[in-house]
Amino acid sequence: MKKLDWAAIIEREILNICESVKGKKVFVELPEGFKIYTSLIRKLLLSCGARQVAFRLEPTYGSCESMTCELHHAIFDVVLHVGHDAYPYEPLKECNGVEIIYVPVKLNVEDVDTKKLVRLIIDTLSEDGVDTIAIGYNTQYEKIALHVVNEVNMHGFKVLRTSPILGCFFGGLDKLENVDAYLVFGSRFHALGLGLATHASSRIYVVDVDKYSVNDYTSDAERVLRVRYGKAMEARNARKWGIIVGARKGQCRLWLVERLASLFTSRGLEYTLLYSSRTLRQDLDAIPVDVAEAFVVTSCPRLAIEDLSDYWRPVLTPGEALYALGVYDRVKFPW
Ligand code: SF4
Repeated sequence: MKKLDWAAIIEREILNICESVKGKKVFVELPEGFKIYTSLIRKLLLSCGARQVAFRLEPTYGSCESMTCELHHAIFDVVLHVGHDAYPYEPLKECNGVEIIYVPVKLNVEDVDTKKLVRLIIDTLSEDGVDTIAIGYNTQYEKIALHVVNEVNMHGFKVLRTSPILGCFFGGLDKLENVDAYLVFGSRFHALGLGLATHASSRIYVVDVDKYSVNDYTSDAERVLRVRYGKAMEARNARKWGIIVGARKGQCRLWLVERLASLFTSRGLEYTLLYSSRTLRQDLDAIPVDVAEAFVVTSCPRLAIEDLSDYWRPVLTPGEALYALGVYDRVKFPW
């Protein structure tokens, strides 16, 4: 089995932006999985002529929560944001004089045994009687996914749409009708988001490019959806709400905050705005029940699902809160 050589792939991608860091003070943001390449990246950037290289200690979950706007021009010239493209809802180019360069680390078709991958996909789709598909991919797998589109087309499958996806962005894949199945080039995280956004109405497979496997996550999405309905029901009688607002630029969705705030007011419910760049359960614990019986997160909708699903007070996504308030007739993801 052809193993992915991530170190070589990262080296190739960093060398592509070599010129843009020359003589600059660079702040690097890495997803957790890439932190083992910290030393390699530091050496590469210094060999490109960077004047100084520093790394973000906290986890980086997406370009939506880049620290660029918190950094000062006097300390850093450029943020190198590795592992993601610009956030489609708020594509940041610079902030307070600090430039941001995205290094999404995209695999080339040659990095992967695409013949083997295509065979696996075609066998799975054929066995399950799938005919019409749509394809989502996280940024690393863009070229692989686009290559597979051509191949599966040639084998008679109909591809309705292909789009990049994030944990809260689905590029219109969630608006399609008559899709037998979604193929997601990424992880369970991406598949689950799409499953929630489509209300698990079609089958969802994850294509694991590292492990050369295709796995069905439909029942997983259905199970999480049931949990989310339970959470929304728990919040139905809450009279006091905490609205969590993203303190980082890409997660500060004031239009959503205003929508929820005016709804709470019109229903005679109390709300308190709680700004946060990282919402941890100990921070929620410090907020008394006479301030918030339930919370709605307008920053990252996945906090409610991955991090706070078992919190002792209901923590909802905006689409779940709007369902709990009777605005939607079913939960929507993300808002
Ligand atoms: S799911 Fe959260 S971390 Fe991921 S892109 Fe959306 S807001 Fe950012």
